[in-house]
Amino acid sequence: MEPKLNAQVHKRVRKFLLISIPIICVIIALGVGVYFYTNNESSHTEDPDALNDLTPATAKWVQNKEIQLFRRYLRFKTISLETDFEPCMDFLKKQADSLGFEVTIYYPVNKQNPVLVMTWKGSDPDLPSIMLNSHMDVVPVAEEYWEHPPFAAKMDEYGNIYARGSQDMKSVGMQYLAAARALQLKGITQPKRTIHLTYMPDEEVGGYLGMGPFVASDAFKKMNVGFTLDEGYPSTTDHLEVFNREKPSCKITVVAHGHSGHGSQLFDDTAAVKLNYVVNKFMELRRNETAKWKEEKYPYGNVTSINLTILNGGLKSNVVPPEMEAVFDVRLSIDTDWDEFERMIKSWEKEAGKNVTIDIQKSPKTPDTVIDHSNGYWMQFKKATDELHLNVTPGVFAASTDSKFIRKAHIPALGFSPLLNTPPKLHEHNEYINAETYLKGIEIYSKIIEKVANF
Ligand SMILES: [Zn+2]
Repeated sequence: MEPKLNAQVHKRVRKFLLISIPIICVIIALGVGVYFYTNNESSHTEDPDALNDLTPATAKWVQNKEIQLFRRYLRFKTISLETDFEPCMDFLKKQADSLGFEVTIYYPVNKQNPVLVMTWKGSDPDLPSIMLNSHMDVVPVAEEYWEHPPFAAKMDEYGNIYARGSQDMKSVGMQYLAAARALQLKGITQPKRTIHLTYMPDEEVGGYLGMGPFVASDAFKKMNVGFTLDEGYPSTTDHLEVFNREKPSCKITVVAHGHSGHGSQLFDDTAAVKLNYVVNKFMELRRNETAKWKEEKYPYGNVTSINLTILNGGLKSNVVPPEMEAVFDVRLSIDTDWDEFERMIKSWEKEAGKNVTIDIQKSPKTPDTVIDHSNGYWMQFKKATDELHLNVTPGVFAASTDSKFIRKAHIPALGFSPLLNTPPKLHEHNEYINAETYLKGIEIYSKIIEKVANF
């Protein structure tokens, strides 16, 4: 009897297991499904790449949702004029959706240079709106000089996040969104004024395919922008600058043609000799301006910066070249008389000899943004920074930004980046931002946006 009984028990156990195992599996699968479904939000923001940097020292930043989103944005390789912005814009659209913002994409000139606009509709949409501007594009990288891959957004043990665009200016583009989220969590589901968050494609190459034509469009006019916030510059202290004007920029191209021939001959009229004459003139001006700035302690806005940025020419070491070219990046001091400056440059063209041409491309002349009691937006901006106990002083931006187009349209624009205690690394190798600086910037923007959008 016993073996028979054992066999029956075994049979029942086997039957039970055959039925119950699939049921248990289904229950586990359902459980896992429900878990992922209910954690949909976190699975969207979970950043597997960031987890590579997870250590006890970095955990508080690596696991922070805002830092995760920022690092994901940094990983889009968005170099001006050579990028398909679609994946980056898909990411931005998702961010807008999560905040309930409408998204419109404009193509002012061509498909390669889109302008993405998010709109947070205000309770009084007839009031002039607030534009929070940033650019998606970044300058190219010389990857061999970087300690970390420039589009990996690697975080070190101090919370420094390395990526091209981390300072200029993907941080700001994401801080606007994070500030809006913070305001919504605070209960401000709708500002009084409509807020437009704009993302530009080509600021780093002048903005002539993005902001320039966009400002001239009917779509922009319909946005009824009353005030714009745009990019600023990092501060090495806890004292910040806000920029209400910028130095006009010039691209100056010098081309010299001359006698070509055997490298052993001393020809009179060579391209190199003539180009050298003009280059020396620019270098002399550069020395004088540098001395003015360093020795006489002029503010940077009151000196002209000159840099030789491109040199072209030559065929072989034993051939005197028929043509040579030099390109200069010049940012004029705010008190420069443009016509006088142009006359001086043109006189060098004549002095250098025949067959020398100097081409000057200037950025548009723009009015300054007034910063006094007559500008209500400025007063609100100041109120916000005062409440935050931030030292903010007005200054002249050393370079040109998309704000030039806004100011040219007589719309007030302030350049401001809340990058405290940060060495400026714009356009440099190993550009980085510290996670704490980034998070502090969200607080600063929350206060400023709340003030300027609700008066
Ligand atoms: Zn920039």
